[in-house]
Amino acid sequence: MTDAGTWSAPGRVNLIGDHTDYNGGFALPCALPRRTTVLARRRDDGLLRARSAGATEPLEVRLPGVRGEVDGWGAYVAGVAWALAEAGVSVPGADLEITSDVPLGAGLSSSHSLECAVALALTGLADLEVPVPELARIVQRAENDYVGAPTGLLDQTASLASVADHLTFIDARAETALPVPCDLAAAGLELLVIDTRAAHALTDGAYGSRRDACERAATRLGVGTLRELTDDLDVDGALARLDDLADDPEAVRRARHVITENARVLEVVDLVRTGRLRDVGPVLTASHASMRDDFENSVPEVDLAVETATAAGALGARMTGGGFGGSVVALVDTALVAAVEARVRAAYADAGFAEPGFLTVVPARGAG
Ligand code: ADP
Repeated sequence: MTDAGTWSAPGRVNLIGDHTDYNGGFALPCALPRRTTVLARRRDDGLLRARSAGATEPLEVRLPGVRGEVDGWGAYVAGVAWALAEAGVSVPGADLEITSDVPLGAGLSSSHSLECAVALALTGLADLEVPVPELARIVQRAENDYVGAPTGLLDQTASLASVADHLTFIDARAETALPVPCDLAAAGLELLVIDTRAAHALTDGAYGSRRDACERAATRLGVGTLRELTDDLDVDGALARLDDLADDPEAVRRARHVITENARVLEVVDLVRTGRLRDVGPVLTASHASMRDDFENSVPEVDLAVETATAAGALGARMTGGGFGGSVVALVDTALVAAVEARVRAAYADAGFAEPGFLTVVPARGAG
């Protein structure tokens, strides 16, 4: 047993591949240079206590805890302890002091960075090293069954497995996360994250209904997950099969996004691996159109940021994360970043939207 230590985990920005993870597909996130840090001290009385600079109320629960006994921010912490116990991982009581510079509720996974940092702290105090795929599943269980957000494995995996100066190529079905070198600075490019300040909430029904439509489509097409439709890399063939769902146009649109998005992730991985970073831009913009029109999870603030950034010279831009608000990621020439920011700020002022936030990102190291 370890008496005390410090563990941290980053937020993430997903460059491309959204709503593909729970369909067994591909995604390409990287860790943000913003992290949640947990200073943890072991307790011998079985209590888990936590305080966060980002929350007024402290948390106190007796381990292993009971599902649903805590809500609000403490659910992310108590949920991880509960999910560890459910997985048979025995952890000690602890005092946790939490600080974070990940923007909260901006679609940049502050909640997963909190959950992953807590998971590492609690297992670290117990001197346990849980392999990343297993720890990611435990954190997912906390999120799905305790917090109540039906999310996939992308965010935890990105936070736990990312490597500095690399994108993380996730194959959700294979449960692999491969680092892909990505030197944006050498190409004179920046990843610009625009926090649209449009509130996003993944625990309401919109995310779940998208997920249900994907599962409906897979079942009717006789596959376990939509990913299987493109195992032979024949995207046109997969799209043709959607004719069989003509009586369910919602399922057709959702599945069309997933099929084409998986293909776009593979295209971007190939472009990045072969050093053609500028060509990534249009693929990002195509991904956004697919979310806006087929997955229907965009909002006016997000669309305005994407349209304004690309009109101001960004090579491409898209909503990142679960959607219904949150952040946009844009690929921008370093020399144009200030101009893109100014144009987006002005467009938001004209539209009467809240002032957006900006963050330029160099892919950072994962949790540890
Ligand atoms: P995102 O994960 O994209 O930032 P969510 O709405 O999923 O957005 O999660 C944000 C919520 O996570 C916050 O409202 C808060 O409850 C919780 N949270 C995240 N980080 C912290 C933190 N450092 N301290 C307290 N609560 C946090």
